[in-house]
Order: sequence, then C-alpha cells, then structure tokens
Amino acid sequence: MDSNYMVSIQEAIELVNTHTNVGTTTSESLLNALDLFLAKDTFSTINMPPFNQSAMDGYAVLYDEQHQNNFVLVDEIKAGDNNKRTLEVGQAVRIFTGAPTPTNANAVIMQENTAVADGILTIEDTLTNNKNIRLAGEQIKKEELALATGSKLNPAAIGFLATLGITSVEVYQKPSITIVVTGNELAEAGKPLDFGQIYESNAIMLQSALLKKGFNNITILKVKDNYQATKESLHTAINQSDFVLISGGISVGDYDFVGKALLELNTQQLFYKIKQKPGKPLFYGKNGNTNIFALPGNPASALTCFYIYIEAALQQFIGNPNYKKQTISLSLKDEYIKKGIRGEFLKATATGKEVSILGSQSSAMLNTFANANALIYLDEGVGTIQKNTTVTTYIID
Ligand code: AMP
Ligand code: MG
Repeated sequence: MDSNYMVSIQEAIELVNTHTNVGTTTSESLLNALDLFLAKDTFSTINMPPFNQSAMDGYAVLYDEQHQNNFVLVDEIKAGDNNKRTLEVGQAVRIFTGAPTPTNANAVIMQENTAVADGILTIEDTLTNNKNIRLAGEQIKKEELALATGSKLNPAAIGFLATLGITSVEVYQKPSITIVVTGNELAEAGKPLDFGQIYESNAIMLQSALLKKGFNNITILKVKDNYQATKESLHTAINQSDFVLISGGISVGDYDFVGKALLELNTQQLFYKIKQKPGKPLFYGKNGNTNIFALPGNPASALTCFYIYIEAALQQFIGNPNYKKQTISLSLKDEYIKKGIRGEFLKATATGKEVSILGSQSSAMLNTFANANALIYLDEGVGTIQKNTTVTTYIID
C-alpha cells in the first residue's frame, strides 16, 4: 500500500474489524471468567430448583374440593431438611422458605394468612394449584441450555452458573499485550527532568485504559529512537504478545523508526494513516496472529486511538459479539467551527441529552481530556456545526 494513502475513519474501523482475530479458548474458574465471553454453549447438569421448594414461610398443604380451610398439622420442614415425606388430603406441615415441600403438597399458604389452634391450621386464603411452590426444574431443567456461546459472564451469569453447581467455564482467553514506548526525550517520573526531556506518560495511561477493561496481561518495553533497538524490541513484543501497542516513532521524522522496523519484520500493513484529527499517523498491521497498533506519541492522540480502534479490537479478540463501540446521539451545546477536511474526535462532556466541547483540543494535551467523558465524532465532510445540532458521540468511561 502507498504509505501516503490515508484511509477514512470508517475504513479504518472496518479494516480492524476484518483483520483482528478471535483469541484461543481456555477453561477458567468462574471468578476468573468475570467479564469474559462463553466459548461454548453451557448446559445444566441438574434441575433448578432440584426439588419442589417452598417460596414462603408458612404451611404446605394437600387440599381438594372438600379440604380448603382446616388442616391437621403433622410435621415441620425447614430449609436444608432431608425430608421426602408425603401428605394425606387435609394434612399440612409447617414449612419455611427454601425447604422441600412434601412431594405431593399442592399449595403453600403464607403464615400471615393462617391461624393455628390445637394442632389445627385454619387458613384465610384462596387455594390454587401449586401456589407458592417453586416447582423442580422451573428455572431450568437438567440438560437444558443454561447460557449460549457469546454470553458475557457478568455477576448475574456467574451467580446463575454457580446455582447449577458449575465451577469452571470455557471462555475466550484474554490477550497478552506488550506496550512499546519509544522516544529519546522521555524521562521516568520521580526523577528530575534534564533540559529537553519530558516525563513518559503514555505507558501508564494505556496500561490504565487496558486495566479498566480487565486486560491485565501487560508487558512494557521502553526503547530509544534507534533503528536496531526499535527493531529488536518490536521483534520481542511480536513474539510474546497477541497485541502490540507502540507509542511514538510512527510519524515521518528522521528518528521515527517504528514503521520501517515493523515492515522489516514482515508485518502486514493494513493502514498507516487515517483522515482524522487527532491521530493521523496510526498504523495497524498483522504479524502472524499478532495485532499491531502503532500510535502517535502525542498523548491525546494515543488515547483517542485507543478508545476508537483498540478497545473494539480487544473486545473482538475476547469473543464479545457486541464489540463495536456504541455511539449515542446528543445535542451539541455550543457552535463549533470545524476547519480542515479530516474527521474529528473532540474531547467533550456529556450530561443528559447534551454534550459540550471542552477547551484545548490539542493532541499534545491531556488537561481537558482528564475531564472528558465523551468523544464527539465529526465526519470528514462536515463544516461548521450549529448549536443544538445532533452529534454522534462515543461515551468513554
Ligand atoms: P512522536 O509520535 O514520537 O513523534 O511523538 C509526538 C509527541 O508526543 C512528541 O512531542 C513526544 O515528545 C510526545 N511523546 C511521545 N511519546 C510520549 C510518551 N510516551 N509520553 C509522553 N509524551 C510522549
Ligand atoms: Mg518520538
């Protein structure tokens, strides 16, 4: 591909979507599977509930046409009792929530609607078949599908599988990720700055963005603006990771070696530049099954590219069927004069149905990004946007 060819934002999203692979699957304990996606249909090995169960504290009865008001009390069953008894018509047992009802009981009456005197239960309630009884298998029957492939293991899903006695599940694995940071000018926080230096901040920023989404298998490599060193670091990163995120060195300067090194390492380039602001020099490519994003070093560009392209790719890798980043339509609070033909992502704050553009949109600055909870997307062709126009917005959290 011509290295000057710029793809549109939509083309870039589409290329990432087409080329990102879905990761391998693995068996994980339920807790470790939190927020991952099922790679296999998961079936129940039991009926749930496993037995007819009382839904109330009260009395279980066997009633018929003739026996509707008074019952002879014959037993008590509390939760956990291993009592498989039956009743004769006209009999009742004291029962508590979660306890097994006598196998032929046909109603449970809540205790608030009863009175007991001399071993006789009197009820003031209408009886209907199986009232207040949770029937065995009512929630799910043995061998029925519990959760389908692609289901997200949120806390409710984990709880549901735990009620079925399931301890581990087959899920798509989280990716291993290497962040490669380039730049001679970068100093470590905590040390005084020499003239010409700035503090390195992209590694910890990208690491935070990854950790926030549950991606914790992260290695960080730091490299100077030196072709050989860059190539070696990238070689290591590619060999050890499912994703390589590179910061800086992808632009057109004489000391930007990332693009050359990636191609030298036989990386398949899918795009190198995007018609967008910020983040024009964004490289995406594949090296075997490794997904490679080389991000501009400017911090706001790097983070914007993370939210728009990388987050979706990571979700796709872990088998999320809804991996595409969702947008919402909000009303723009202020007029915006858009110059230039590139598409734009603007740092913004969304409140209710409105969104307002923050100051200092510079790709080198994070001061207002720190207060943003949204990115407004403006398409390539768009010019000045009037106040109250509906704009497409990505929520970043
Ligand atoms: P580059 O993409 O390497 O040309 O860098 C673009 C700008 O981002 C330069 O001003 C760099 O100093 C700055 N920059 C690059 N990498 C980092 C980093 N890791 N942390 C903070 N700023 C950076
Ligand atoms: Mg640089």
